[in-house]
Amino acid sequence: MPAGSRPSLDDALGRDLAEVEAAGLWRELREIESAQDPSVVLRGREVLLFCSNNYLGLACHPEVVEAARLATARWGASSVSSRLVSGHMTVHAELEDKIARWKNQEAALVFSTGYQANIGVISSLTGPGDLIVSDELNHASIIDGARLSKAATVVYRHNDLEDLERVLCENRGAGRVLVVTESVFSMDGDLAPLADISKACRLHGAWLMVDEAHGAGVFGKRGAGLVQELGLESQVQVHMGTLGKALGSFGAYVTGSRTLVDLLVNKARSIIYTTALPPSAAAAALAAIQVVEREPQRAAGLLARATSLALALRDAGLEVPNADSQIIPVLLGDAARAVATADKLRARGFYVAAIRPPTVARGTSRLRVSLMATHTSQEINSLRDAIIDCALDDSADTNTAAKNGARA
Ligand SMILES: *Cc1c(COP(=O)(O)O)cnc(C)c1O
Repeated sequence: MPAGSRPSLDDALGRDLAEVEAAGLWRELREIESAQDPSVVLRGREVLLFCSNNYLGLACHPEVVEAARLATARWGASSVSSRLVSGHMTVHAELEDKIARWKNQEAALVFSTGYQANIGVISSLTGPGDLIVSDELNHASIIDGARLSKAATVVYRHNDLEDLERVLCENRGAGRVLVVTESVFSMDGDLAPLADISKACRLHGAWLMVDEAHGAGVFGKRGAGLVQELGLESQVQVHMGTLGKALGSFGAYVTGSRTLVDLLVNKARSIIYTTALPPSAAAAALAAIQVVEREPQRAAGLLARATSLALALRDAGLEVPNADSQIIPVLLGDAARAVATADKLRARGFYVAAIRPPTVARGTSRLRVSLMATHTSQEINSLRDAIIDCALDDSADTNTAAKNGARA
């Protein structure tokens, strides 16, 4: 194309954005002007937060905050280098040691984010000629890791064991086979049938990787995750989890055999070519794991209240497909309706996320309610009443509301 006929950057991107807006999928940043514990200041107004992954309230826990403060004073504000150069400090080693013991594994490796952990692990373990078998609702970071690996990827229907078996049978000729699933699904809150999945993997000689981003801290005795709760620690070869959700810090880990960790140190580009987790985040995560182990009642109370909220919303006539975890999906169908309902809830003082495509499939836009152990029963009850009111009230022109909400 001759240079003169090329559109300017702003013209071209403006057209891209117009398409996003026309589809009702406009996204924007909303500024939180306070800590997330669990009422927040949003544009000068106090609202109750029901969309944070701070499930156990640990991001603001005094022991966790103090650990971060002390680590900053002792080790500095940054790790300043890759783990492979000078960025691997004693705080990282202590955290990895703790994670391996917590998860009953030989070794652990901390990554700077869960996104980086997933792309690094999947692309290091598999390559051309291999096969990645992935649940259709797996997180974007798993999908991107599979793309980077250049292995063939086959997606099986969500939590559908028969479909997983079919894929494994149809691909007997593949090289390495890596099955990847989340334990607690991020946008649906339902649980993977891990016992059956691990059995199928064993039968077919496939390796199993489980992403516990939403399971760690909440499930399992000592909060080590759903894999531990189900007694499957030795059946899963690659355990991945994040430090930035229930653990209230930042970063992620992969744990398993010493060989797995050695391989990742040598091959995972997302750890070799990136700055190590800051000392404060490592120390905060370590303190958070100690709280989780010491206070199992936090997670137990959270799950009990989440189940009763999910069932109450369902009883009121809303579509709540499961009551399995701290993540409660309230299916509303089209994107405009989800956005309009979230706008109405915000106006009433409840901050709940509207989740739309491409994060979820078309026609399954929803509210994603996430509870925190620090919400009071009274706060949860008032949320319940507000959701029932707002979601079942279809009198408003949802299209106009969505547009105004998006632009307000
Ligand atoms: C959040 C999330 C990640 C990414 O973790 P970050 O530390 O936020 O990068 C990976 N997998 C799942 C399932 C997640 O929900």
